[in-house]
Amino acid sequence: MPFMKKKEKERRLKVSTKMTEKWAKVRTVKAFKEELTPVIAESGRRVIDLQLFARQMWCEECDVPLSLRFLEEERRIGLASKFFVRCHQCLARKEVLSSALAPRTTEDGRALYAINCKAAIACVDSGVGHEQFNKVLSAMNLPTIHANTIVTPERRMGPSIVEVAEQSCRDAILEERELTLRKSSRTHGQRL
Ligand SMILES: [Zn+2]
Repeated sequence: MPFMKKKEKERRLKVSTKMTEKWAKVRTVKAFKEELTPVIAESGRRVIDLQLFARQMWCEECDVPLSLRFLEEERRIGLASKFFVRCHQCLARKEVLSSALAPRTTEDGRALYAINCKAAIACVDSGVGHEQFNKVLSAMNLPTIHANTIVTPERRMGPSIVEVAEQSCRDAILEERELTLRKSSRTHGQRL
C-alpha cells in the first residue's frame, strides 16, 4: 500500500527530526553544565536580596524558572553581583542582580548598588574602618569591597548622613531639655 508507506515514512521522519532536535538540546545543555561548573565551584558566599533575586530568576519568554546550574558569568561590584544565567529552554542569556540599585548614581552616572551603600553607611555608623570591614567579610568567605566602592557612596550620601546626624543631635538636646524641665518642676513642687 504505497499511501500507507508514504504516511509511515513521514511519521518516522517526523519522530527522527524530533529526536535529533531533542538530543541536540540535551547535548547543548550538557555542554553548558560542564562549561559553567567552574563558575559555581570557585564561588564562596554572596549577600543576596532574596525577593529581587527570585523575581529575576525566571525566563519570561519560556515561562520557566532559571537555574544557577547554567550560570555563565558573574561580575562583582563590591558586595553586589551581576549574574549572567542561560535559560535552558530558549538559551537566552539573562542578567540577574543580587542587589537593587540605589536611587543615586556616581558623579559620572555609574550605578550604585544598595548593598554597597548600606555597607558604607554601616561603616560610618559603627565607626569601623574599610580594612577592618574587609577582614570581617574575608573571614566569612564573602567578597571584599574595594576602597573606592565604599568611598563613593559615602561621598554621595555624606550630606544626607550629616543631616540625619544633626537632626538626631537636635532631637536629643530637645529631649534632654524636656526631661530637665520636668525634673525641675517636680523638685520645685516638692519644696512648695
Ligand atoms: Zn527562555
